[in-house]
Amino acid sequence: MPANVFVRYGLLVLIALPIGFLLLNPQILRSVWIEKSGNFQAAQGMPNVYIGRSATPQQRSAFRTYVGQARNRIRRFWGSQQVRAILIYCPTQPDYEQYCAGGEGAGCSLGTPWGSAYLILGPDGNDVDVIAHELCHDELFVRLGWWRVKRQIPQWFNEGLALMVDYRYSHPAIWERPDQPETTFSRPDHEPTRPYTHHPMLKLSELETTRDFFGSDYNHTMLAYQIAADEVARWLSRVGRRNVPALTTAVASGESFRKAYQRIEKQSH
Ligand SMILES: [Zn+2]
Repeated sequence: MPANVFVRYGLLVLIALPIGFLLLNPQILRSVWIEKSGNFQAAQGMPNVYIGRSATPQQRSAFRTYVGQARNRIRRFWGSQQVRAILIYCPTQPDYEQYCAGGEGAGCSLGTPWGSAYLILGPDGNDVDVIAHELCHDELFVRLGWWRVKRQIPQWFNEGLALMVDYRYSHPAIWERPDQPETTFSRPDHEPTRPYTHHPMLKLSELETTRDFFGSDYNHTMLAYQIAADEVARWLSRVGRRNVPALTTAVASGESFRKAYQRIEKQSH
């Protein structure tokens, strides 16, 4: 019967799509099977955290501390933490390349269209700023869904927001301690950031997609990070961090990102 055939083919497609997706993305397939991997161990007492067996005791203990601190930072920034991503720490570059295509950067986020999320931290990712940055991306995914983030959230906002909890690129006083002067914060190994610098070379409208943002060379990406951080710092210092979840709630209930972003800023005057 035609209806039966339709159901049968429909079912086949439903089964084939996720399998095809996993085969096309071997890094995601490995992440999905992390529990079964002999090279990784679940961190005791820390749900959803896996540490490469080649990590030294010092690396292990530092990683656990940084994950705890980063999760706290995310809770303070968003008001609560909804993230349920699985964190995978790869202490060596070869491990990292198995889980993060290209093995570039200190960390990367992987997601599936059906909602599973993995945060991969490489040898340079054993760092509270890197972990908080990646967790912030994931928080946005959880609150809006993969599809909505891909379709509606400009990459400059996604990155800019993550940079607000990544103190290599922004100043905690932007949202953590807005009443305190910036001089109370010092991090000798990092240049102090200048949140309001104006860069005329690139416009936000040229940083909408992942390709716009990362597609060019290293200098372009670094400039893109700075522009994204400047814009989100500007918005955040006007509206306050309470309006970050307010913005995602508005977008989740159907308001366009652009409208919600501008409306919240106007209302906060
Ligand atoms: Zn990022």
